[in-house]
Amino acid sequence: MGMDCRLVLREAGEQLVIETARGVRIGAGEPTVIAGPCSVEDPDMIRETAVFIRRLLVDELGLRNVIIRGGAWKPRTSPYSFQGHGVKALEWLREAGDAAGLPIATEVMDPRDVAIAAEYVDVLWVGARNMQNTPLLRELAKIGKPVLLKRHFGTTINEWLCAAEYLLAGGNEQVALVERGTRGFNEYARFSLDITVIPAVQEISRLPILVDVSHPAGRRSLVPPLAAAALAAGADGVMIEVHPRPDKALSDAKQQLSFDLFAETMRQLRRRGLL
Ligand code: PEP
Ligand code: MN
Repeated sequence: MGMDCRLVLREAGEQLVIETARGVRIGAGEPTVIAGPCSVEDPDMIRETAVFIRRLLVDELGLRNVIIRGGAWKPRTSPYSFQGHGVKALEWLREAGDAAGLPIATEVMDPRDVAIAAEYVDVLWVGARNMQNTPLLRELAKIGKPVLLKRHFGTTINEWLCAAEYLLAGGNEQVALVERGTRGFNEYARFSLDITVIPAVQEISRLPILVDVSHPAGRRSLVPPLAAAALAAGADGVMIEVHPRPDKALSDAKQQLSFDLFAETMRQLRRRGLL
């Protein structure tokens, strides 16, 4: 398989391990869980969620690699939908991460927001819709913080790895890939989760690969089995949306897990030896 990239390929060097704040790692063997609400809606809901995740995953289940997620700038289909609280949300997310004692992650869409986002958060991610936003990738290549690159829902592995190449070629080797589903024929779910890319990327590339199991699902009942499938297929971790009152969420209300369902899902993954 001819690939138009170099530094991301297996032959280019050692398997990459992402090191972030508080000793949390991605791709080091033990799975990473990135959990939190779709959007940071207010200071209380993000703090409540972060502390809940900390107690469950770190204190109860003993996981080492846990990161809190929350969107500050939201890529929405409609301009009339909630667009995120921007820099205020970064402050609330930072406070919540500190209260929970965990690193935090957020999406950045605009190259002009990269510097401010990197001041507040430990891990930045590129959303599916911006996978090939090369000015954004070039900015992110210059920061000394880990970047997660989500796969666009209509792109090939080569296009995805080439987008990651912009980050490495620009000087940032702290990069992990995130599969989040592609457009398919399963209209019951939101996207089709491409499990195939997990072993494929592991054969071709030296980048860790995570799976966002919430966005392909689109409805919460589908999330727990997708998480099990991703981990069973060898993913380096999962990203999952969880919200204290999912039905009232300002974005992705149908797919976010309640605290109860999230706890049940995580405990079951542990019992099955997947976490
Ligand atoms: C998200 O993680 O909130 C998100 C918008 O995901 P994606 O870019 O994969 O659609
Ligand atoms: Mn979402």
